[in-house]
Amino acid sequence: MFKNHPKGLPVLFFTEMWERFGFYLMLGIFTLYMKAGANGAYPAKSGLGFDGATASDIYGTYIALVYLTPFIGGLLADRILGYRRSIVIGGVLMGLGYCGLAIPGYGVHFFLSLLLIIVGNGFFKPNISTLVGNLYNDDKYRSSRDEGFNIFYMGINIGALACNFVAAYLRINYGWGYAFLAAGIGMFIGVAWFLAGQKHTVHADVLKPTQPGDQAVGSILGQVFVPAFAFAAVGWFVPDLLLGDGGEKPFTFLGKQSNDAFLFACVPVAWFYSSLWRKAQGEDKERLGALLPLCAAVIAFWAIFHQNGDALTTWAEEHTEREMPVTMASAASQVGLAQEVFSQRRVPKLDANKKEIKGADGKPETVLEPEPYFKNSKTPAPAPTPECLPVGADLSEAQQAECSKKSVKLVSSELFQSVNAFFVVALTPLVVGVFAWLRRRKKEPSTPGKIALGMFITALSTLVMVTAAVMTHNGEIRGTMMWLVGTYFVVTIGELCLSPMGLSMVSKLSPPRLTALMMGAWFLSTSIGNKLAGILSALFNAFETKAYAFGINCLLALASCGLILAMLPRLKRVMAKYLG
Ligand code: GLN
Repeated sequence: MFKNHPKGLPVLFFTEMWERFGFYLMLGIFTLYMKAGANGAYPAKSGLGFDGATASDIYGTYIALVYLTPFIGGLLADRILGYRRSIVIGGVLMGLGYCGLAIPGYGVHFFLSLLLIIVGNGFFKPNISTLVGNLYNDDKYRSSRDEGFNIFYMGINIGALACNFVAAYLRINYGWGYAFLAAGIGMFIGVAWFLAGQKHTVHADVLKPTQPGDQAVGSILGQVFVPAFAFAAVGWFVPDLLLGDGGEKPFTFLGKQSNDAFLFACVPVAWFYSSLWRKAQGEDKERLGALLPLCAAVIAFWAIFHQNGDALTTWAEEHTEREMPVTMASAASQVGLAQEVFSQRRVPKLDANKKEIKGADGKPETVLEPEPYFKNSKTPAPAPTPECLPVGADLSEAQQAECSKKSVKLVSSELFQSVNAFFVVALTPLVVGVFAWLRRRKKEPSTPGKIALGMFITALSTLVMVTAAVMTHNGEIRGTMMWLVGTYFVVTIGELCLSPMGLSMVSKLSPPRLTALMMGAWFLSTSIGNKLAGILSALFNAFETKAYAFGINCLLALASCGLILAMLPRLKRVMAKYLG
């Protein structure tokens, strides 16, 4: 696989594989951990007990911020630290953050750990991609850059695929802390591997001298940060004052305060990038003028793609028949990967204000309710067994043995997130092969052409879900898991035409002294897209007719595809001019 590629590629491939292993491991269980109720009997197993809205809010803000910091990390690497040093700093910070999350309970350490990951990713993520690109500046490898990024992207997804199984196993059998610790250990293995292979990457870590007109780092940070905080404050307070909290009503502006604050804070950052273009001259201006609009256009991709953790997980949870085939069920239970449901479950009793009612012993009172899974499912609910009610949780072994006879085993919803990573690994050779075949016949699309194609395929993937919504009578009968597998299959082909190509293009088209800063712009589009994904998922929850919610995604993808196609002649011209 690494034949005909620079020696540094396997070094960066495995480093990034381990980093993403930790990143997606933490992400996969993060919401579950926040929502899991505290469980006195098994402290190691207890979660934070947040309500769903708070958990989603923290999750959405985290996933947006974690991709916002690459802009600063890229800048510091370009100008001061260098790429390798930044990667090591970032890796260590993230590793410490994951280990911090392993400390049970909710306190300062929780937010501090998140902060470490957010800052760490800023140092790590743009710079490792830049370093990959720099390996291909050598004339010998110039034409294999796109392919190199495809391979690198596969490493990302091998990590992302494996981690969910490790996470599920550790959290189910040992507790949350062990799973977070595994993320930390993975990250440290990545750093160690990177340090061991430095001799193959050192030549790619070259800082290009700044030019006379370039702004100093301090002045950029001052110019961006101060207004960003001011804008965030305006976003936090003003729409709320004018329109009320739109959390439940998606049409009252953008919704949650944190959404507003975040999107407002992005205005000065976006302004900074546009002024970079306005002040640039000659060659730089043309290069930036090609890259920045592309970054803007792919916001739509991430907004659709990252609904995987939200709207599509809800679809899996509430509208998908998830019963495991018998053979799979016993294997999955053996390794602790099956989600068991009973006909009824015990839930906390709530008063009129939806607050838990506490009994005389201080513990929350509970009531029985039917397990919602069976409401729209073809699977018959097992006979009610009141003695085995708290699903999973603190049953004695004897009770569990009794209950397991009367439960149904489901594919747990978060495992659907591995489907995309699986397809990336499985389909990359195919996509790379098709492009290589086209190249031999001199018909390979240009890099921006591939990005437009990726956007179009993304639009098709949303149509799979529109069809799913129609066929399941708006989700009223649980649909087959194949709808989700199908949409992930299609969107992954789109992703493979777009995401690794974007990295490749940023690395070759950026003015050389600004490469990591422009990587930051690329990830900024992920960051904004992630927040929009949360907003679109809120629309999904709010819309009565689910097909419309998926249909909006389709229009968004087509609009962005149209935009890229309109820019295509110019993008191709610029690329041909500077890259030959
Ligand atoms: N799955 C990719 C990664 O983790 C997507 C990155 C992105 O959002 N731009 O690298």
